[in-house]
Amino acid sequence: MAHHGTGKRRFAARDEAPLHPAFLERLTGMPGAEPEALVKALDAVPPVSIRLNPLKPFPIQADQVPWCTQGRYLPERPSFTLDPLLHAGAYYVQEAASMLLEQAVLASGAMQRDTLALDLCGAPGGKTTHLLSLLTPGSLVIANEVEPGRRRILAENCWKWGAPNVAIAGSDPAALEDLSGIFDLIVVDAPCSGEGLFRRDPFARRQWSPQLVQQCAAVQQRIVEQAWDALAPGGTIIYSTCTWELEEDEARMAQLLALGAEPLPLPISAAWGVVLSERDGAIAYRCYPHRLQGEGFFLFAARKPGQLPSRDARPVIHRTDPPPWIDQQACLSLVERAGIRYARPAAWAAALDRIAGALALEAPGIPVAERKGDGWVPHAAAALSALRAADHRPVLDLSLPEALAYLRGAALSAADAQGTALVRHRGLGLGWAQGAGRRWNNRWPSPWRIRMLAAGAPPVPWSEP
Ligand code: SAM
Repeated sequence: MAHHGTGKRRFAARDEAPLHPAFLERLTGMPGAEPEALVKALDAVPPVSIRLNPLKPFPIQADQVPWCTQGRYLPERPSFTLDPLLHAGAYYVQEAASMLLEQAVLASGAMQRDTLALDLCGAPGGKTTHLLSLLTPGSLVIANEVEPGRRRILAENCWKWGAPNVAIAGSDPAALEDLSGIFDLIVVDAPCSGEGLFRRDPFARRQWSPQLVQQCAAVQQRIVEQAWDALAPGGTIIYSTCTWELEEDEARMAQLLALGAEPLPLPISAAWGVVLSERDGAIAYRCYPHRLQGEGFFLFAARKPGQLPSRDARPVIHRTDPPPWIDQQACLSLVERAGIRYARPAAWAAALDRIAGALALEAPGIPVAERKGDGWVPHAAAALSALRAADHRPVLDLSLPEALAYLRGAALSAADAQGTALVRHRGLGLGWAQGAGRRWNNRWPSPWRIRMLAAGAPPVPWSEP
């Protein structure tokens, strides 16, 4: 067992990545940290949790995460990769403390009305997919991520989630300058020094330094300033990090208060183990692994003074007939870009056009069709989307081994394969297969393929025999 270099041997750390001495020294100044108990918890096995997708139910028996309706704890870490339901978007593997977002969204009142929301630091999509499950179907979420590689994963996760009301953007927050006061809800899940990941991620331990904390704080300060300007009067900003540094957490709360933000108290039960951190009459919320079943997390929610603009009478600019594999009743406005047709909620078309003037909207809606030769074929995202026509035929219902073969890119044998078939597993849409007589050609996107050969963990508990 290795120990950090301060000589305080009671702070034992993991062999592969000891905790930085400066981090250990700072723990004493952190509200509710209880250094000894916390450091011990950082050496324990982290709990495993998932968040279920209400659009794609499947039978599961598991304990609920107390602060999240759809959050579930699992008794051990299974092989998620070899579960087709993960690829179908039936659940998202997410650390439980970060599901506290739900309480802030609840307190904001955003669930009572159609909301224009921005998830500014979106990848890989934990908060975005959570927002999509919480907000009304008439809401719109702009999921932004500045880093291109991470943005691809954000898009993949959003499309697998299947909600029709999301667009993917890829801008630095500075681009918000031209969108002053337009968003009802902004989530800033800021890039941070990552102390809350120390238990799960040895890299987080290795990269930590006091300089990193300072750099992160400077970036966060700028992001908060830009986000605040883009927030509508009466709108809510939710600021979170997965670190415990005062400079990155309570200092940002102080910044928001100085900008005129009104703190939003959250309906947190004392039994949950969340630490309340009070400054200048405002309360922020801290999660520690020794006090609750989850990792490190910080959250502060606040409102901008004023009245939210009414969003009830939005004119529908134009409705476009969707392709046949899409629900013909859905009120959509389709736009074409670089050989892909994107379906946007028609009621948000004008807002999306305005947003596209400022943010790099990489996917202005859900990609439903892609050009092939002179025609259009279904896009992979359409198979996974709630927008898909319920009566699409033919359908191929795959067993677990067949679904895994499909997700690895294999063709499916057939007697007479014609047209474009919807591939399903346990009733949930996965992807498409193209008829080619004696076989179905695989249309699962190659970047999404399973590359793992053998499981290093048990199967998921809901796996079919
Ligand atoms: N919200 C995500 C979720 O729940 O899955 C996690 C977000 S992660 C904590 C922070 C994200 O901010 C990263 O994806 C990172 O690429 C992005 N980021 C890094 N620098 C940024 C900057 N200067 N402005 C905005 N976002 C940035």
